[in-house]
Amino acid sequence: MKIPSLLSRFFVLGVTTALSAFAASPRPASPPPPVEVAPNIIVVLADDIGWGDAGCYGATQIATPNIDRLAREGRRFDQGYSSAAVCTPTRYSLLTGSYAWRSDKVGVNRGVANGASPLLIPTDQPTAPGLLRQAGYRTAIIGKWHLGFGLTKPDYNQELRPGPLEVGFDEFFGIPATNDRIPTMLVRNHRVEGLDPADPVSYTYDKAEAEAAGMSPWAAGRNRIGWAKGGKAAWWKDTELADIHTRESIAFIERNRANRFFLYYAPHNVHAPKVPGPRFKGRSGLGDRADLLLEFDASLGALLQSLDTLGLAENTLVIYSSDNGAYINEEQGHRPTGPFRGIKSGLWEGGSRVPFIVRWPARISPGESVDLVSTLDIPATICAAAGVTPPAEAFADSFDFLPPLLGRTDAPKRDSLILQDGNGRLALRSGRWKYIPDLDTADGWKSARKAADTPARPGLFDLSADPGEKQNLFALRPAEAQRLAEQLATAQASPRTRL
Ligand code: CA
Repeated sequence: MKIPSLLSRFFVLGVTTALSAFAASPRPASPPPPVEVAPNIIVVLADDIGWGDAGCYGATQIATPNIDRLAREGRRFDQGYSSAAVCTPTRYSLLTGSYAWRSDKVGVNRGVANGASPLLIPTDQPTAPGLLRQAGYRTAIIGKWHLGFGLTKPDYNQELRPGPLEVGFDEFFGIPATNDRIPTMLVRNHRVEGLDPADPVSYTYDKAEAEAAGMSPWAAGRNRIGWAKGGKAAWWKDTELADIHTRESIAFIERNRANRFFLYYAPHNVHAPKVPGPRFKGRSGLGDRADLLLEFDASLGALLQSLDTLGLAENTLVIYSSDNGAYINEEQGHRPTGPFRGIKSGLWEGGSRVPFIVRWPARISPGESVDLVSTLDIPATICAAAGVTPPAEAFADSFDFLPPLLGRTDAPKRDSLILQDGNGRLALRSGRWKYIPDLDTADGWKSARKAADTPARPGLFDLSADPGEKQNLFALRPAEAQRLAEQLATAQASPRTRL
């Protein structure tokens, strides 16, 4: 605990000297902090940025001064995971604190959403932003949503309801699905921004339907996934997306400088199509993906700078992670997945081992941690930081990882984590072990097709000795493999894994 910083925080908040005297005494282990000193919260969820993509995780060819600053001023986790190896399920769990494979919705329990997906979070399911909003926080998501709108295939000419605002956010501005998919139009709250009613948009992901209706995959300057017609006045410019999202985020922070706020900042960097803005194009010397990393780092820097300027940095909890691992292992000597095997969408570590940094100057001393943490744990953790107790039925699988960061050693820690790939297949990390039920499918979307009657080829790896998952110990340690297989089956059959 840093007494001077605590005192300055109280000073900033204008709390009485009586409270300052309390702050100078040792902080009790519980209960959670009173709401009047609860922090602002910013969750930065990058897109497809890998474990090895920043200097503070060992990158040497790319300069990431702002990610590195966050690590220097906060706690950097070596064993941070996205809860899935692709976008939508991780983003679902980040808001609901529930494993995505529990959902009955395709796009969450397997695959990803597209622009035609209905809202994939039930509006009666407790969410982190919803609970924070109830507790008086102003809540916003700015950037990539990717969790659907409406009750059926959304009509982007109409109100997009229910959506982010119906699952806990006061404000939404950003990309409906992914930046390589139709529709290429930014949404503000319930409406596409800048749509000309005289040029309505229609779209499909069905080729035959697209051809019959004269739709094109060409949208906003390049081919996308899906086909559309109309709506051109609302097309975004890929080169401007990072700046737009950063500007909107800083404006949200400035508007709410006197309130408690929760900002879920979800930039598109470094997802395909790789189109860096003009200030970053060519700057890394390593290609467009690395240029996009520089652009992301600069956006993060601008956000941190705005907190500094407004005097909010001290009592703002910032969590930085990524929605899945990198989509390549190597690029001109740079290793986006660090020492890990596999890439986005697969069950190898490279699919979901991601950067994970937590900064809260008022409460968390800087350093490094080897605790096992996941983006799945963010809901329980940020609610705990805010002094919000979730209802018993909420956050079925989300562990509060805050107590150890605050110096408490008595709180339970996560010791296992189920990983989900792009096809809805699961693997288990437990202690130092990793169990993959069938190695023939471990490459996710890159796996070769496998006949249904081909037997599974299980894998067991000791990550403490073999982080690159090179040596399959399944035949050598059958009892360990059996224990993990049973643990995975038991968790799947249980309604919750949170204690
Ligand atoms: Ca992603």
